[in-house]
Amino acid sequence: MLEFRSETGYAEANMASAGVSFWLKFRCTECGNCCRDPLLPMNGADLARLVAHTGQRPASIVRFVRTDRIDMDDEPEARIVLSEGTRIMVLRQARGACQFLGDDDRCQVYPQRPLGCRVFPFDPTFTQRGKLRRLQLIEATDCPYELDGNNDPDRIVALQRQLDQQTEAFYTFIKRWNRNQQRRRREGLKLRGRAAFLTQALRDSSGS
Ligand code: SF4
Ligand code: SF4
Repeated sequence: MLEFRSETGYAEANMASAGVSFWLKFRCTECGNCCRDPLLPMNGADLARLVAHTGQRPASIVRFVRTDRIDMDDEPEARIVLSEGTRIMVLRQARGACQFLGDDDRCQVYPQRPLGCRVFPFDPTFTQRGKLRRLQLIEATDCPYELDGNNDPDRIVALQRQLDQQTEAFYTFIKRWNRNQQRRRREGLKLRGRAAFLTQALRDSSGS
């Protein structure tokens, strides 16, 4: 039997043995925890969309954290060489939560929120034909979900594909940026910082 109630009353499951159809019953209880705890990596397309929607400066939407602040060892492509050091771009928080989380625990930029927020907490893998092979939950925070939901597998697949494409495009941009930084270092020139990175990242992402 997969489902049981924990001491806190949350629905829980044996993650290892649960299949796709089981996790499609996931229902978010809108507690807002995932908008508080984890740092969310951002790509250029996410940033461009939020800049256009909010009118905020890019530097007020994201910040650049040291690589030991976020568990992304399996994605070295996310590392950006800046004059300040090697960093990863994440959504900026304020007072211990995402700056877009309202007092009512609602997302204030919901239609424009980053793709990582839309996919969370699902971590899908696919068959060669693009069907869902496996569905797991990302364990980045305390998530008091229920298991009486009805998620559309096609939507999960489409969102994850879109996120993968945007992330790949952003990593290609970072690779180009880092190569240029290395060239500057070889030539004894000053490395560029976050402001130049943001300007170029937005330019690269325009239209995507
Ligand atoms: S932590 Fe889980 S239940 Fe809470 S808002 Fe996020 S996805 Fe929903
Ligand atoms: S953008 Fe919205 S959904 Fe994403 S972390 Fe912030 S408040 Fe939560």
